[in-house]
Amino acid sequence: MSDIIQLLPDSVANQIAAGEVIQRPASVVKELVENALDAGATEIIIHAKDAGKTLIQISDNGCGMSPTDARMAFERHATSKINSANDLFCIRTMGFRGEALASIAAIADVELKTKRVEDEVGTFIHIIGSQVKKQEPVACTNGTSFSIKNLFFNVPARRKFLKANTTELKHIIYEIQRIAIPNPEIKISFYHNNSPLYELPQTNHRKRIVDVFGKSINQSLVPVKEETSLIKIHGFVGQPKFARKTVGEQFFFANGRFMRHPYFHKAVMQAYEKLLPPDTFPSYFLFFELDPGNIDINVHPTKTEIKFENDRAIWQIIHAAVRESLGKHNVVPSIDFDQSGNIDIPLPKRDASDISFPDIKVNPDYNPFNTEKSGVSFGNREFKSDRTNLGRWEDLYEGAENKPSPQHQSEQNYFDGDGLDDLYGKSKEQFTGKKVLQLKQKYILTPVKSGLMVIDQKRAHERILFEKFMDVLKSDSVASQQQLFPQTVELNPADAELLKSILSDLLALGFDIREFGKNTFVINGTPGVLDVSSPELIIERLLEEYKNSPLEAKKKAKEQIAISLAKASALEYGTELKPEEVDRLIDNLFACVTPNFSPDGKKVLTIIQTEDIEKSFSK
Ligand code: ADP
Ligand code: MG
Repeated sequence: MSDIIQLLPDSVANQIAAGEVIQRPASVVKELVENALDAGATEIIIHAKDAGKTLIQISDNGCGMSPTDARMAFERHATSKINSANDLFCIRTMGFRGEALASIAAIADVELKTKRVEDEVGTFIHIIGSQVKKQEPVACTNGTSFSIKNLFFNVPARRKFLKANTTELKHIIYEIQRIAIPNPEIKISFYHNNSPLYELPQTNHRKRIVDVFGKSINQSLVPVKEETSLIKIHGFVGQPKFARKTVGEQFFFANGRFMRHPYFHKAVMQAYEKLLPPDTFPSYFLFFELDPGNIDINVHPTKTEIKFENDRAIWQIIHAAVRESLGKHNVVPSIDFDQSGNIDIPLPKRDASDISFPDIKVNPDYNPFNTEKSGVSFGNREFKSDRTNLGRWEDLYEGAENKPSPQHQSEQNYFDGDGLDDLYGKSKEQFTGKKVLQLKQKYILTPVKSGLMVIDQKRAHERILFEKFMDVLKSDSVASQQQLFPQTVELNPADAELLKSILSDLLALGFDIREFGKNTFVINGTPGVLDVSSPELIIERLLEEYKNSPLEAKKKAKEQIAISLAKASALEYGTELKPEEVDRLIDNLFACVTPNFSPDGKKVLTIIQTEDIEKSFSK
């Protein structure tokens, strides 16, 4: 038998390499923008059509390429950035592997126009699937412009597995953020289907973060600065009170390159220990400058993993630097910290007669659980407690005051199946506010027939709201409560896209929201079932919740939005409730179809059996 091993043709080898480097349109954006940075550009313009599936165009005003280099650039392992293996240990450029252009050209239709300042004319090259179709001189401006069409045209499996445009666009936005944040001196614009998502002017680090994530982040940022011989750290960490429920704005950059680093992430998180509300994540933007000889970037083709020599020492430095910043800015109990960095603001002297009490208006009749709004109706529906269902649950209380009932039933049995009628059916009078206790402003405790029922107040309210929203979605008419003063929300582009994608469902729920130019929305009305004092906050929380919801669940978009909205607008833990409010909450909960689970399937209540209480006293 003859020998069977042969070298793969370049086009095939490139396609295989492309599988690693180019996973989706966002990877093309990343590679081309990094090349523009390496070319010394001060302005980069990115255009994408259909989340980059149809077209990605990237132009820069960098150094450009000679006609020969322009052709060479598409060869595999062709790079101007390193010459020898030694250079691998002092990399200061974003690229060095010489793989990106060869990979992209293997799986797309690529056009390049490039010109150096010193050249009279530029070069045009057209390559499809590694085949050069045309190379000719062209009149063009200094710098380089790539246009990538029909990505993965010859890799149908990849093309088929691309996600929906909103998802792919989100990935592109992430890549742009990762490049824009560490490079505020570079002007970056991004247009999607010709509408501008980012137009970032040249500025400083802090302002760039604000330009990328929206004005609201500014107040949360606390500066961090630490210089040691091993590493220089600067940047910002978010104050704990602004921590969010989604892991999002957490960025490490090593010598200007975005990286993931779970170990250093822990250093930051531990610095926040005990400062964060449960299940929330702080933002951070930390820039590390260190000798490139002490890090290894070449761990993975996409270069987002970086190995550090001395990583333990660096861990300590990061931890201490973040802790100190949080301390200096008074977000940690301050006794342990040097306060010298704080500015003392003297109180203005004034006459005691100037001082008067602030004028505060409160509405003593306001009741957050009063859902019967005047003038709001939902078709034929009225959102009052459903008394028929109510009548049955009240029997839970039967005998609660007297001797313990001999029947002990498991918690599930209370609400499942036929056992119900047995349990319910007594009048409401037996249950009064007096028998109810709010614990830690989180739980509602109330004696029932078989023991002590503990209700999670937030989850209970989520369930109530969710069922109301679902009713609204099912009914034909939607009631919206018009805002006296329409509110505007400015979102970051990723959130703006998300909001656009769920806008029609929000309208069906009773929101009246319109797009108002770039990433800004006007809220004219909110669902009638909600008592909303700051609708913009509800929208922000709703997006957070929606982002957090499991992918699977998003398929049932309407329901998931109702869940997210219920979670976003339910009363928070830590809210003190008056006895009559507790009463109403319990009424409304048991008027629900499924009172014992929150809309996302968590337990709303539990019953501590009298038997168990007795057992615990038996010794
Ligand atoms: P790498 O960036 O790892 O060197 P690439 O395949 O991304 O590999 O690019 C190959 C070469 O093409 C680069 O080394 C650079 O010389 C040249 N090049 C690519 N993009 C640009 C650009 N926008 N401006 C100038 N030169 C570029
Ligand atoms: Mg490159």
